[in-house]
Amino acid sequence: MTTNRQWLIQERPLGRALQASDFKRNDADIPVPVDGQLLVKTRYFGFDPAQKGWMENISDYMPPTHIGDVMRGSAIAEVIESRSGKYKAGDLVSGLFGWQDYAAADASTVNKLVDDEFLTANLGVLGTTGMTAYFGLLKLGKPQPGDTVVVSGAAGATGSAVGQIAKIAGCRTIGIAGGNDKCQWLIDELGYDDAIDYKSDSVDDRLNELCGGTINVYYDNVGGAILNSALAHIAMNARVVLCGGISRYERGSRPEGPENYFNLVFRRATMEGFIVVDYAQHFPQARARMRQWLHDGKIIHREDVQSGFENIPATLMRLFNGENFGKQMLKND
Ligand code: NAP
Repeated sequence: MTTNRQWLIQERPLGRALQASDFKRNDADIPVPVDGQLLVKTRYFGFDPAQKGWMENISDYMPPTHIGDVMRGSAIAEVIESRSGKYKAGDLVSGLFGWQDYAAADASTVNKLVDDEFLTANLGVLGTTGMTAYFGLLKLGKPQPGDTVVVSGAAGATGSAVGQIAKIAGCRTIGIAGGNDKCQWLIDELGYDDAIDYKSDSVDDRLNELCGGTINVYYDNVGGAILNSALAHIAMNARVVLCGGISRYERGSRPEGPENYFNLVFRRATMEGFIVVDYAQHFPQARARMRQWLHDGKIIHREDVQSGFENIPATLMRLFNGENFGKQMLKND
């Protein structure tokens, strides 16, 4: 291959769903690394709902994007040429290499990976996704043995890890996800005690039935009506963890505030948001712990691996349609 295939940002999808015309295919020259840099070739791309927000420039925890930029995204890549003493050709690394075949990356911004059976997990349960589950639950949720932990987006990459870590912490777990297959998977494979299919059940009725007034930790990935229902059923001193709000990411207007918020007062509860990068300095220890749990079979992970460079934009859209089952990835060809 003599050119560097890329996907560029063409439009900002603010207040609406992503569409194919938000991205533009481009062919560029392969970049030349300078001192301290690596030339890497991308092998697997990881997909995160936050990528849509990065295109919209709605968050302040990352530098702004510009129309015409290579689309920002994480990937696992192979070092082709190294101009850093820390890496050599053939090493595998992860980083924000963008939607392209080749990137020149500063060696200080990449993570060196072990090429074992958990390689692709570095984009999921051992990557930022797993760290989000780990720190959001343990630092903000503070689960205690016997607690009831309810998770929305429970069959997604983050939610599936949250439920399993809560089980390790000795909690009762209830997952909320879309569709019977995902709900069955939560119970059969992930050890959730109960599951609620928000697409066919009344979340409010089911929460009332399963854990009315006894939710100690609610880990929220979706916001909107599901967050509001969960707030109605929290226990005294509950911890509500605001991780994500995917139900609002495609809306043109802000959703109404949760009308049950005052239950936080009655129940002396807390509701707190976080951004995972705040815990970056603790990632190595958390990764080692998660890797041990994976190795010991205490947690499992599921990956949804699409293929084909041309399919990259459509693969990001799968997250917003609930088409992904597990961590969304794409193998570069
Ligand atoms: P994911 O859960 O693997 O994929 C997104 C899932 O969201 C879909 O599979 C779908 O599952 C669900 N969904 C989509 N539209 C929905 C809607 N309108 N209502 C309810 N559910 C909907 O993605 P992820 O990467 O693990 O991210 C999960 C959440 O964590 C996102 O909100 C993301 O922004 C957030 N996050 C936050 C941080 C942080 O630092 N705070 C870091 C990473 C991720 P169903 O089939 O069940 O509908």
